[in-house]
Amino acid sequence: LKGKHEEDKETSSKKSCDHSSEVAQHYNRLQEVGLEVRSQSRIFYMRNFNNWVKSVLIGEILDQLRKSKPGPVRVLDLGCGKGGDLLKWRRGNISHLVCTDIAEVSVEQCRSRYEDMKRKSHSSDLFTAEFITADAAKESLWPRLEDPALTFDLCSCQFVVHYSFETQAKAETMLRNACERIRPGGYFIGTTPDAYELAKRGSLSEDLSYGNEVFKVRFKSGPPFSLFGAEYHFSLEGVVDVPEFMVYFPLMCRMLEKLGMRLIMKSRFSEFFEEKLKDERHRSLLQKMGALEAFPAADGRQATTSDGEYGHVTTESRDRTLGTLSRSEWEAASIYLVYVFQKMEPASL
Ligand code: SAM
Repeated sequence: LKGKHEEDKETSSKKSCDHSSEVAQHYNRLQEVGLEVRSQSRIFYMRNFNNWVKSVLIGEILDQLRKSKPGPVRVLDLGCGKGGDLLKWRRGNISHLVCTDIAEVSVEQCRSRYEDMKRKSHSSDLFTAEFITADAAKESLWPRLEDPALTFDLCSCQFVVHYSFETQAKAETMLRNACERIRPGGYFIGTTPDAYELAKRGSLSEDLSYGNEVFKVRFKSGPPFSLFGAEYHFSLEGVVDVPEFMVYFPLMCRMLEKLGMRLIMKSRFSEFFEEKLKDERHRSLLQKMGALEAFPAADGRQATTSDGEYGHVTTESRDRTLGTLSRSEWEAASIYLVYVFQKMEPASL
């Protein structure tokens, strides 16, 4: 990977292909469906599991922030989509939220979900919010803010950053938007597929793809992978099928270091799951969110044992989860990692 760095630096700015509009169109087209339709999906439990990971992560960081600095919490939800995390922000009792995404339809759905929440909430305690449609890999978000000088305690970027690793310039712009306005001591958190996990899953077949009945990864070209523009298609149930780009995590750390960010935690979903399940609160949340239920699974699928190639999850805890999360879903979910970075105090820069 490293050998290609210089080459990437030269070519990234010259590249003519740009998948931004494809990504925006794809997410704009995705329909919001009700719980009943969602529950029929082969990846129903995986979605719940991903949601649980985000809930635990967001909850813990908000606790952390409050411990270190009481007072209002301002959050940037970068790549907010349709507002899937709005409830988490309400539960976390934040004071202001900036929701931004490249897909206009998603931002509008996010806004109307928020308006709905506001109507239904009888207290005036609900956070204030603003909504911005913008390509965060191409332009600075700050001139678009209601208060262009606003700073954040937290930026949350869930399942987004990998779209920007198409070129160095785009990744840099995305990460700058994520971190430039975080106050010292504030956090940058997120989830993304791990290039390492993507690449190591078996030797690539002749058609450069692998997967199972719920997901498929199809690489545009085989190894060696470039640091930027290492394109693959990740499809879930044949649904999410837009170009994504491998994120080589050590590279992202280096880029974030330049923005004054220090790595606090990086954990594969499997490790995160194993660790957080020890806490009864997180366990019961997982149960409530419907990714950890009694055997057999609601659709009659049986838990299967795995050979352990997908992480460090012990057989016992994995099997309990596989009671609802099928092995195929687990294989897809465990490609992802969770990260937490913190803005350093100016003196330590
Ligand atoms: N964060 C949301 C969640 O966890 O439910 C949505 C995740 S969805 C997998 C990825 C989101 O990233 C989409 O809403 C997409 O439009 C957005 N996105 C991709 N590239 C982007 C860019 N350059 N700028 C802003 N948003 C982008």
